[in-house]
Amino acid sequence: MKKKQRKYIFVVGGVMSGVGKGVASSSIGTIMKARGLAVTALKIDPYINIDAGTMNPTEHGEVFVLNDGDECDQDMGNYERFLDTELSKNNYMTTGRVYLDVIRRERNLEYKGKNVEVVPDIPLEVIRRIKKAADDADADVTLVEVGGTIGEYQNIIFLEAARMLKAKYPGDVAIVMVSYLPIPSKIGEMKTKPTQYAARSLNSVGLQADIIIGRSQLPIDKKRKEKIATFCNVLPDHVISAPDVESIYDVPVNFERDNLGNILCKVLSIKNAKTDLSKWKAFVRKTKSPKGEVRIAVVGKYFDSGDFVLSDVYISVLEAIKISALSLGVKAVIRYVNSRNFEGPNGRKAAADLRNYDAVLVPGGFGSTGVEGKICAIQYCRENKIPYFGLCYGMQLMVIEFARNVVGLKDANTTEINPETKNPVIDIMEDQKKIISSGNYGATMRLGAYPAMLKKGTVARKAYNTETIFERHRHRYEVNPAFIETISAAGLVFSGTSPTGKLMEIAELPQNEHPFFVGTQFHPEFKARPLLPHPLFSAFIKAAIKRGSETRKPAILAQKVASPQVKE
Ligand code: GLN
Repeated sequence: MKKKQRKYIFVVGGVMSGVGKGVASSSIGTIMKARGLAVTALKIDPYINIDAGTMNPTEHGEVFVLNDGDECDQDMGNYERFLDTELSKNNYMTTGRVYLDVIRRERNLEYKGKNVEVVPDIPLEVIRRIKKAADDADADVTLVEVGGTIGEYQNIIFLEAARMLKAKYPGDVAIVMVSYLPIPSKIGEMKTKPTQYAARSLNSVGLQADIIIGRSQLPIDKKRKEKIATFCNVLPDHVISAPDVESIYDVPVNFERDNLGNILCKVLSIKNAKTDLSKWKAFVRKTKSPKGEVRIAVVGKYFDSGDFVLSDVYISVLEAIKISALSLGVKAVIRYVNSRNFEGPNGRKAAADLRNYDAVLVPGGFGSTGVEGKICAIQYCRENKIPYFGLCYGMQLMVIEFARNVVGLKDANTTEINPETKNPVIDIMEDQKKIISSGNYGATMRLGAYPAMLKKGTVARKAYNTETIFERHRHRYEVNPAFIETISAAGLVFSGTSPTGKLMEIAELPQNEHPFFVGTQFHPEFKARPLLPHPLFSAFIKAAIKRGSETRKPAILAQKVASPQVKE
């Protein structure tokens, strides 16, 4: 079989970070895939860390977990959602990962006595990795998103890799620069100069953008497109408008409106197959015409960054909620609720505010901050039959709450918080003990996809409608086998277990006792896709819609809940 002519699209960022380079890359993936092409995507993070797993969420946002257990950047989640595909550790690299491999090979004499140098050996290793990911996926088109911004020192070696690859295969590599066009409020005019400087900085590392995607509050007008074209050396129709959107899922459709798919095919000499974005467009249409709304409280530990609340920490959870809600025809109104509100002497009273929501979710987490508040929220949901969904820590805390308040084990806890508790209903996994005592923290949790078996007749089994599931994990603790009998006897059902029956993967209350009270030891949010909503999230949202329709009074609807609203 003739080897495919591989095509590469490098996506680099100009002017500043955080303007949606990941969504732009993912959306390029969506429109190329819609042309019937096999597409894969890589993310490059310029930091030294081997992965995102050891980083504080305030540093990095969400840690996304792949099937193979790789702990990586949240953009990988966008790729999986937009490309509706499963990626592996070969799709993710950091400076640390690249150097580690080169140094390991040098120690192994694999460079055969040669002087190993930053250039070309590091970019060559970057290229080797890009090609491997392309080969693994047998991709026609491989997207490579270079993290960071043009002009900074950190990512220069990756831009050099792009330059070397383009020098070797000039017709097979496209460079897309996602840049920012500010509209300063005092001036009221869209400014192109920062983008011109970014294009020039890109030139200074030997690269010329083929296409410039201009992120801005508003669409780019003809005059500015021409200006950018003239000063950045691109054709006017190669300047693509990427205005702020209501939903990130609009972006592929907007790109097609600006003809980006055809332009990329032209730049890369890809025979332009017919585009079929119909499924995607059908989903986007749903986002435009919701028939109602559900109000979901995400009770978590919130991170302040200066005067701002970081919303990226739970991005996959938010997307999973939104996707299921939209697929059921309603819009999710998600509010962050700081679990610390539910601590102290007034905690229980404050938790009663949760009745203003249609459902409550407690996401994953680590450590003791806000934990008692989360437990208080869970108790309120259990006692007041408010649909509750607990993810990972959210499931462990649900078991603790049940053990304390139903079973009567007053000091029930996780040994993560209280190693001395007499009732460690959540305890460290046996194989984790050695790992921790050796101080080996990186990539050593229970990570990635594991199978679970679902019990007949349970909420979980009904939602998944299958016996065996594969879901992704990221945790060190688990339900302590010593307490399973007691807890089950008191009525909590472990509806999903590992195939050997040893590890508890899903806990729930029977539906005749509670409309939805479910916790998962795994992270279902990592597998929710716009074109394939996650069954458990959908079951949760259904329960929320039901509660909303039964309890929502106009007065409550109008009531403002004092917490930051998540950007839709
Ligand atoms: N801290 C818990 C554990 O390590 C839960 C982790 C999580 O929520 N991802 O088991």
